[in-house]
Amino acid sequence: MISRNQQLFERSQKYIPGGVNSPVRAFKSVGGTPVFFRRGKGAHVWDADDKTYIDYVGSWGPLILGHAHPEVIEAVEAAAQNGLTFGAPTEAELEIAELLCKLVSSIEQVRLVSSGTEATMSAIRLARGYTSRNRIIKFEGCYHGHDDALLVKAGSGALTFGHPSSAGVPEETASSTMVLDYNDLAGVEQAFNQFGDKIAAVIVEPVAGNMNLVAPKPGFLAGIRELCTKHGSVLIFDEVMTGFRVGLECAQGLFGIKPDLTTLGKVIGGGMPMAAFGGRRNIMQCLAPVGAVYQAGTLSGNPVAVAAGLATLKQVQAPRFYENLAASTRQLTEGLAGAAKKHDIDFCAQAVGGMFGLYFRNNLPSSYAEVMGCDREAFNRFFHAMLREGIYFAPSAFEAGFVSAAHGETEISDTLAAAERIFSAWS
Ligand code: PLP
Repeated sequence: MISRNQQLFERSQKYIPGGVNSPVRAFKSVGGTPVFFRRGKGAHVWDADDKTYIDYVGSWGPLILGHAHPEVIEAVEAAAQNGLTFGAPTEAELEIAELLCKLVSSIEQVRLVSSGTEATMSAIRLARGYTSRNRIIKFEGCYHGHDDALLVKAGSGALTFGHPSSAGVPEETASSTMVLDYNDLAGVEQAFNQFGDKIAAVIVEPVAGNMNLVAPKPGFLAGIRELCTKHGSVLIFDEVMTGFRVGLECAQGLFGIKPDLTTLGKVIGGGMPMAAFGGRRNIMQCLAPVGAVYQAGTLSGNPVAVAAGLATLKQVQAPRFYENLAASTRQLTEGLAGAAKKHDIDFCAQAVGGMFGLYFRNNLPSSYAEVMGCDREAFNRFFHAMLREGIYFAPSAFEAGFVSAAHGETEISDTLAAAERIFSAWS
């Protein structure tokens, strides 16, 4: 009998391109039918056929407290009772702005937007307006949303103009973006030596979470910081994923580096559409209505989204919140790596705060090329076997995973037991 998931997917493909509203949801990379979710609570989700899963996607990062956390839901309900949107300032958005500035020391002023893409796109425009320069540097394998300037892949030579990585992105737009190798500081140095006075900004994920997970090598981020300062370019840390995911001061706190601008999203919206960009006051003051860089949004600072964000940020400030989250995540990655080792499988895993990477290769990757070299077939097989066991990992070998505060001993040990069953039958 055809499952309800399959029925829904077939119907969806008729009305929605590819049946999904964001490409990675389509299971294209792993094959098979995407799971349609009906309900989530804590670390668990239920699909359209009422099968339960332990969820390690958490809506791609926002759900650091797990699904439907009672205090977040209560805050959302209370805010909704007072009206869904005003298109005018509210006290709650001031409160979250103050809180973000207090928690992240590099942020002196902040502006709220509705998605991570809007945050990075606006930060790039602001950096260009502030510096009166056009060129930007990004790193291959880092994803910063679907803005034209950021959907760019490397040109044929490392320091040539970038090329569009999507149809519809003009060559002229892509050509202002240089795409370099993550963790290759010498490449960044070379770019600055050649084009230093033309580079408006470097945008980087301080822990790359969109090519599986790649941690920055010691000195990589500090080196970029130094080069940006020397050449008067704006350093943008894209912390849409890492912000309040790897620690209370985000990845910049973890590595002790202050960017000029930071983009945030996911966790700060608590599961609602909210994101932000902020940083040095003198740069932020270039934004309209004070300065000449235009940026706006009908639903920016939406009161219901702000309520979810404030309720989430309140919880993450609890004592030992991040220590506990990191410990659960480590327990998962160490357990998975241990099970694979026991059965002699080329596999490793690592955790940074509440995010993790799983790699079918025998050592941790530090570059995009190494991630691309992982055994994708093995990942796809593992993914589907775990899915059958009721464990939902990201449906792609190139995405990071997420543990929430709702993942307790039981969920982690059930996950490890499932992996042990799968690895013991691996051949
Ligand atoms: N930046 C990073 C690091 C991301 O991981 C993402 C989304 O996954 C974005 C930006 C874009 O955010 P959004 O999907 O909310 O537009």
